Amino acid sequence: MAESIERIKTLILGSGPAGYTAAIYAARADLKPVMYTGMEPGGQLTTTTEVDNFPGYPEGIDGPTMMVQLQQQAERFGTEVRIGMATGVEFSNQVGGIHKVTIDDSKVVEAETVIIATGASAKYLNIPSEQRLRGGGVSACAVCDGFFYKGQEVAIVGGGDTAAEEASYLANICKKVTMLIRKGEMRASKAMQHRVNSLPNIDIRYFTEVDEILGDQVVEGLRMVNNQTGEKEEISITGFFVAIGHKPNTDIFKGQLEMDNTGYLITKGKSTKTSKPGVFASGDVQDKEYRQAVTAAGTGCMAALDAERYLASVETPAEINS
Ligand code: NDP
Repeated sequence: MAESIERIKTLILGSGPAGYTAAIYAARADLKPVMYTGMEPGGQLTTTTEVDNFPGYPEGIDGPTMMVQLQQQAERFGTEVRIGMATGVEFSNQVGGIHKVTIDDSKVVEAETVIIATGASAKYLNIPSEQRLRGGGVSACAVCDGFFYKGQEVAIVGGGDTAAEEASYLANICKKVTMLIRKGEMRASKAMQHRVNSLPNIDIRYFTEVDEILGDQVVEGLRMVNNQTGEKEEISITGFFVAIGHKPNTDIFKGQLEMDNTGYLITKGKSTKTSKPGVFASGDVQDKEYRQAVTAAGTGCMAALDAERYLASVETPAEINS
């Protein structure tokens, strides 16, 4: 049961690049934002090692350091960053209405605007060797980590558009890419399938699943199993990429906001506006296509600008709207 109630202008949910960028802009616009970090403060970038593709870091930067710096930048302008998790929401349908968000089942924050930046989580196979070697050669982001395997042999699991796109990306960098697809066909679009098929250093294995990723501290190999014949085969690899989909962190918004059939929040046109006035979505929670730190940051900026404009357009002081 909720115990206490607080009223604020702008509430930001999530602490990845989208959330922090929204916070920087919202704080500078004097919206006095309060951010709740969620379960994984810093978001997906805290699970990666080196970030080499965020503009402005010529030498690269490790993910956790970058997130600490983003937090410091947001706090410098007055963002209040709190550890906590949104556990329930009650969004108003009215322009100028007040949105209620329950934090950790114990406190209600009433906000004139809410910026959702709760991100998405990569799906993993959830086998012990994969979990053990995360950060030691197992990655769920080829664009983030592929470069570290330049000239080496790697494997990727998945048969959707992400896997096909990432396999093509890896094929440009790596010596050889073994692609494991559990069915006899790919789910990826025909165009992506064609691209994968046209690259000579991608070895596509249909009806093939991961039996075990080999290596103690770092990935050294892969044991695959043909799910039709049961035949096993070991190959040497140094990098293993998982590309079996993402799950947007939107469970608490079900029934409150419009989402697509895979749970991604729907935003209007080029804006970050959701189906409720004063509620905005940025970052991976509304983007299944680009999913980069820099694109998330870009939409975080947009969300803060949208929130600022929305507040300016709401003439009368907001009233409680239950
Ligand atoms: P998808 O859900 O489309 O594909 C997931 C793939 O992983 C499927 O091939 C699935 O196999 C496989 N898979 C799932 N679980 C396992 C498992 N446990 N073991 C082995 N394989 C597994 O996810 P994507 O991330 O590829 O795409 C998500 C959405 O984003 C799609 O709508 C896609 O079209 C879109 N997208 C578009 C892009 C673009 O337009 N440029 C780029 C990237 C994504 P199976 O088929 O057997 O279920």
